[in-house]
Amino acid sequence: MYTAWYKNRVYNPVVPLTIYRRHSIDCRVHELRLKAYEKKYFKECDCPIWLTGSTDTERYPRQALGVRDWPAAEAKLRSLNAESKDETVHGLKLDDCITRYLDARDDVKPKTLAQYKLLLGRLKDFAHGKNKFFSRELSVDVLEDFKTYGLAGLAGTSKGTSIAKLAHFLREAYRRGWIAESLVDKMRRHKSVYEQKQPYSEKEVKLILDAAGKINGGTTGYAKSAATFRLLVELMLETGLRVSDAVKFDPKRCVKSKYLWLYSFHPRKAKKNEAPKLLDIYLTAKLKKKIDECEWLSPALPFAYRAVSADEETDYLGQAVYERLQAVGKACAVDDCRPHRLRDTFAVGLLTKGVPLEDVSKLLGHASIAVTEKYYAPWVASRKLRLERLLSETFANAKGH
Ligand SMILES: [Zn+2]
Repeated sequence: MYTAWYKNRVYNPVVPLTIYRRHSIDCRVHELRLKAYEKKYFKECDCPIWLTGSTDTERYPRQALGVRDWPAAEAKLRSLNAESKDETVHGLKLDDCITRYLDARDDVKPKTLAQYKLLLGRLKDFAHGKNKFFSRELSVDVLEDFKTYGLAGLAGTSKGTSIAKLAHFLREAYRRGWIAESLVDKMRRHKSVYEQKQPYSEKEVKLILDAAGKINGGTTGYAKSAATFRLLVELMLETGLRVSDAVKFDPKRCVKSKYLWLYSFHPRKAKKNEAPKLLDIYLTAKLKKKIDECEWLSPALPFAYRAVSADEETDYLGQAVYERLQAVGKACAVDDCRPHRLRDTFAVGLLTKGVPLEDVSKLLGHASIAVTEKYYAPWVASRKLRLERLLSETFANAKGH
């Protein structure tokens, strides 16, 4: 009886998890003089890759992996093996740490959270590619490599902010005991190189305004009225408003002050948990009148072609302005035509006219003068030099008397 049972049993040894190729009939592998097992693990074709075998905890019947790329299949294999490993021995999976970290970040806006998600997703993929699946396997070496290779293609500010986000995650991971040492303190600091601010010259401003007021030929969005779009550009140039705030500009909320019109508003770019700060900007009566009298893109707001509520995201409007400006730039042959450079033009214009840094900082709504100084360093430096020259002339005059 015992023998009968044994005989009927399908021989089923525990094989480790393996990947292999299932070739199509017309695959060139059949033309090569290869042994059966060589064909099975052939890397140079595009036939589907299959998986079979067992991990420590699970058995996988033969199944298609859904990939045709050998390295990708190997990566999947590694991650399946890692998943089966015991957490009590290896600590938390990096994957789980990232999820729990993201779930806990209710202090940031959805847009920022999405950036964290993207960055940590990159970190996870990078670590998996290096066969590291547990948070405790993260090391200074892996992180430095991630900064060099995993963040490749990110320039200047965005690399700097990515590393700042990475640092936040690592600090939290250490605090919660997911990693054994404070890796963030061992990481090399990234010196952020701020994007060079480039204001438009007077000539370029004139070209942009002319072209903005001319290109017509549309029935939707900003193409509906070139004259109105031109005024939006004028508004950004005259006030330094960010595009996200400019599209929501509401002339009805302007208050006539002694010399100019005062517009107080809550900037969109604010930290989620901070008390909303009011920002004051000023515009001339001439511009205010032109905006009042122009063709408004929607009944409530001149520069929003769809109704927007006060705290609504207006990224799509900002994107539409960006695209329109790109078209304007093409039409008037001005390179790199985008909204933020209008703000830079405003800021640098004030700085070169001698308006104090702290006033410019206030008008831009920067958190501190240090931010303004960093962004507009070359123009701040030239102002310092001018001050120095002025002082030296004063001293020279004093000596002469
Ligand atoms: Zn094949």
